[in-house]
Amino acid sequence: MQFAEETKILTCILCPFGCQLEVAFKVDVPKPEIVEVNGNRCKRGQAYAVLEATDPRRMVTSFVCVPGSLEPLSVKTAAPVPKSQVKDILAAIQDIKATMPVAIGEVLLQDVCGTGVDVVATKTLKKKPPTGGVDHETR
Ligand code: SF4
Repeated sequence: MQFAEETKILTCILCPFGCQLEVAFKVDVPKPEIVEVNGNRCKRGQAYAVLEATDPRRMVTSFVCVPGSLEPLSVKTAAPVPKSQVKDILAAIQDIKATMPVAIGEVLLQDVCGTGVDVVATKTLKKKPPTGGVDHETR
């Protein structure tokens, strides 16, 4: 049986060479099947092209407001997630209800959108000691 083929041109983003990759893959099959990759200078580029053509993934970064903190909390997915789910993941991140204090690396949302990937804090937010007022004990 003859399958239709398509070609995608991608730029490898794994190193500064930025090789132009030409990926040929079968369509009309349940899952895209790679036929050939050209233009890569190394094996990493080959693997990148296969993944990008069949299951593209991205790291997602965003911010969350935390009551009691004047600065937003930066967060990210702990691993790349399917590109098709990025919009839903950003919406899920906006629903996170974090409370102070937050430690860097703390898991704020497990298995976001069923991806098996957690959303984690990328910085620490500590409660600030109360300021102002007079400490009557030391007078
Ligand atoms: S294919 Fe290899 S050499 Fe080319 S950009 Fe990708 S990682 Fe760099």
